[in-house]
Amino acid sequence: MNWYYAREGRQVGPVSEEDLTAQAASGVVRADTLVWREGMQGWQPYGSVIGGTAGQPTCSQCGRAFPTDDMLRFGERWVCAECKPAFVQGLKEGVITPGQFVYGGFWIRFGALIIDVIILSVIRLILWLPLMLRIFSAPEEAQSLGFIGIQMLVNLIDFLIRIGYGTYFVGRFGATPGKMACGLKVVQMDGGKVSYPRALARSFAKVLSGLILGIGFLMAAFDEEKRTLHDRICETRVVKA
Ligand SMILES: [Zn+2]
Repeated sequence: MNWYYAREGRQVGPVSEEDLTAQAASGVVRADTLVWREGMQGWQPYGSVIGGTAGQPTCSQCGRAFPTDDMLRFGERWVCAECKPAFVQGLKEGVITPGQFVYGGFWIRFGALIIDVIILSVIRLILWLPLMLRIFSAPEEAQSLGFIGIQMLVNLIDFLIRIGYGTYFVGRFGATPGKMACGLKVVQMDGGKVSYPRALARSFAKVLSGLILGIGFLMAAFDEEKRTLHDRICETRVVKA
């Protein structure tokens, strides 16, 4: 039996039923993921197709639905009998599974940010030192360039460095050097890796978070999932690596 499922707005498949179950177990296919196979009227959530009846809770681990009596509840999550041993083991080991992250708290993220700011300042210094020395040694020449013009150029290039820094490190390694040093990484909502385009968008959103007294950053302190404004905009989470 060939199945198709929706992922990030695209259709994936055909895959065998075993493959689909494996994808569900790994968290790629979730209870609310739309699936389809020949003979079905239309696309339906995986949770309602496998194991069947609507209204039954779906296992947060394998995505299958079972009667309430056959399942265990862990906070907001339901876990079926089959998945329980692995789930409990995962909890004990603090392993991160989709939907169950260990979030990076406000202060550790603040520490990571400070490290990144220091690194960026060093980069800035190395980059601008030659220019600064030239301005001091030849003030007339600098004046002819126009002080405001230089100021704007400096700001623009600083901005591009910040964007490039966040995009490269998060896109490539899932974390900036500051986050790596603090044992944090940026992931997508489903626990997956952040792509370069998303890392780029997040870098821009981060600049936005820094505006208005850094309220965008402070939001992490009051959010259950420790999300900053840029995490909200880009649907990312910062978790312990
Ligand atoms: Zn299960």
